[in-house]
Amino acid sequence: MSAVSTLQTINHSVFSQHKLSVAVKRDDQIHRIISGNKWRKLKYNLQHAKAIKAKGIITFGGCFSNHIHACAFACQQQGLPAIGIIRGEAQNQNNYTLAWAQHWGMQLHFVDRKTYRQRNDDGYLAQLQQQYPEHVIIPEGGSNSLALTGMAEVIDELNQQTTFDTLLTPVGSGGTLAGLILGDKNQHQLIGIAVLKQQAYLAAQVDALLPAHAKPFDNWQLMAQYHRGGYAKFSQQDAQRLHNFNVETGITFEPIYSGKMVLALLDLIEQGYFSAHQRIVLLHTGGLQGLAGLYARGLLSSQQWPSLPIAPINEKHQF
Ligand SMILES: *Cc1c(COP(=O)(O)O)cnc(C)c1O
Repeated sequence: MSAVSTLQTINHSVFSQHKLSVAVKRDDQIHRIISGNKWRKLKYNLQHAKAIKAKGIITFGGCFSNHIHACAFACQQQGLPAIGIIRGEAQNQNNYTLAWAQHWGMQLHFVDRKTYRQRNDDGYLAQLQQQYPEHVIIPEGGSNSLALTGMAEVIDELNQQTTFDTLLTPVGSGGTLAGLILGDKNQHQLIGIAVLKQQAYLAAQVDALLPAHAKPFDNWQLMAQYHRGGYAKFSQQDAQRLHNFNVETGITFEPIYSGKMVLALLDLIEQGYFSAHQRIVLLHTGGLQGLAGLYARGLLSSQQWPSLPIAPINEKHQF
């Protein structure tokens, strides 16, 4: 599997006022279902699982997880049985994300928060491995060293597509930013926008994911003040501001990940953070399936926001 996402220049009154050029790396369009960074993070993980003839994969996520959704479909395409360890209650099993995951054959195991918190503990993982021999365990969000290799390819593509100064990405578990740092080799300014309140851990988590040779790279930073209240939290004013931006640019950014990067960009520009003539690239990490959960919980209006692509049953896609 290989795919190069397009780079799209966008116009916005704020950009022209500040004489900035802004382009979006459209990883949201990389695949109809396995969108964005999850496609890149799964690419080498699933290749590896196939190469060692694994019996299946086991991974982790919340009830609305983009990773679970992407992983379920990608595994079905690769003929790999998939098990999802889901934080939360089985009553969520019919929501958009999990209904599709099951439709694509992922077996779901619901665990309470306490159990879920052990997802990176050696003892817990060893026990899981014993229970499911010859299965490959992929961490939450897909973030491991093979994911970094896939993410690093964004930079190779960008270097072919354009010249730029600064790249922005949303940050959840840190794997995406770590992969960009690895691929960038200290060439550009990389800014990660944390979408959750974990300020204290996140930079260390990114650093821990980096291989030794990439640890000295110092061209990246994590901005922790743009989470807007915490993971999946945002005000109606934030949602409206993002909606206006989407209308003006013609691209849909959702308010959990990529939209927080957009709002941070607008705040930074207003604060005069970027000097004139800077060339900025935004990595659109995808995640639009996450809108379904926001509609279902009444956090966004599906009348105002776009309808979701509903994949036809049994549709076959190339991964
Ligand atoms: C998972 C996800 C992220 C965060 O990526 P990490 O590698 O976990 O930091 C960003 N954007 C979207 C749309 C995602 O689904």
